[in-house]
Amino acid sequence: MLGLLGDEWTLLVLQQALMGATRYGDFQSRLPISHSVLSSRLRSLADDELLERRVYQTNPPRSEYLTTARSRSLWPMLVSIWNWERLWVPDHSDALPLMRHTVCNEDFVPLVTCGSCGESVREKDVLAQWGPSGSWARSIPAAVTRRRSATSQAGLFPQTMTVLGNRWAFAILVAAFVGVSRFTDFQTQLNAPPGSIADRLAIFVANGVLVATDNRYRLTEKGRALFPVLISALQWAQRWFPAPEGVAVMLTHTGCGRRFAALLTCNECTRPLRGTEVSAI
Ligand SMILES: [Zn+2]
Ligand SMILES: [Zn+2]
Repeated sequence: MLGLLGDEWTLLVLQQALMGATRYGDFQSRLPISHSVLSSRLRSLADDELLERRVYQTNPPRSEYLTTARSRSLWPMLVSIWNWERLWVPDHSDALPLMRHTVCNEDFVPLVTCGSCGESVREKDVLAQWGPSGSWARSIPAAVTRRRSATSQAGLFPQTMTVLGNRWAFAILVAAFVGVSRFTDFQTQLNAPPGSIADRLAIFVANGVLVATDNRYRLTEKGRALFPVLISALQWAQRWFPAPEGVAVMLTHTGCGRRFAALLTCNECTRPLRGTEVSAI
């Protein structure tokens, strides 16, 4: 899961595909992407069944890339990333266009609501507990070789990549949401090398996602605002890559006492958002 998503260009290509880009030229005109990077990402997205390659012309050969059920169900995470970067990474907010809900025709902000009771939900309303598949250690790929994103310095989602672009970063954040705060507890719960935990915690503190006080690491407001991103990434991973022993993280909406499944709604018209009804302007 992290291997698929921990790459900025992969997220951007997917996002454009979900917004209707299908042909090579569509992606190239919408993204500041080089030929080789675009070709390699389209190929790996097709290999991972996030895009389906279909030849639409044989002479000369031309292919288009269509979204799949697996990638279409990623749109809540991409919308949440978009919104978080706009709100919390102000020095680059100009780089991201507004999002429009085509149903009400307003520029919108996604709100997280409980799929069971329909109430609007903040991170403090959700109880997160480790599920039967135990700690995150088993959910994390054992060895991921990760090339640095070509745009890691000046990309469109620069800070999101510090959250998703490392095998431990996402797990540390989930642990922080579950309530882990001490260095040794992160290390034990995640079964991670101390050096990796220390590196990631330092980066999160430098980015203002965590704050360190009294030997504890706690989420800041900016960190808590990642809740929709984490929830939608978790739900996607647990849907498409289920662990045989059960979910890694169990979520309960404390307001209604039922299992929490996030549903994104439009802040302007309150209707549930659908991936096909969101556009960039
Ligand atoms: Zn509820
Ligand atoms: Zn709306």
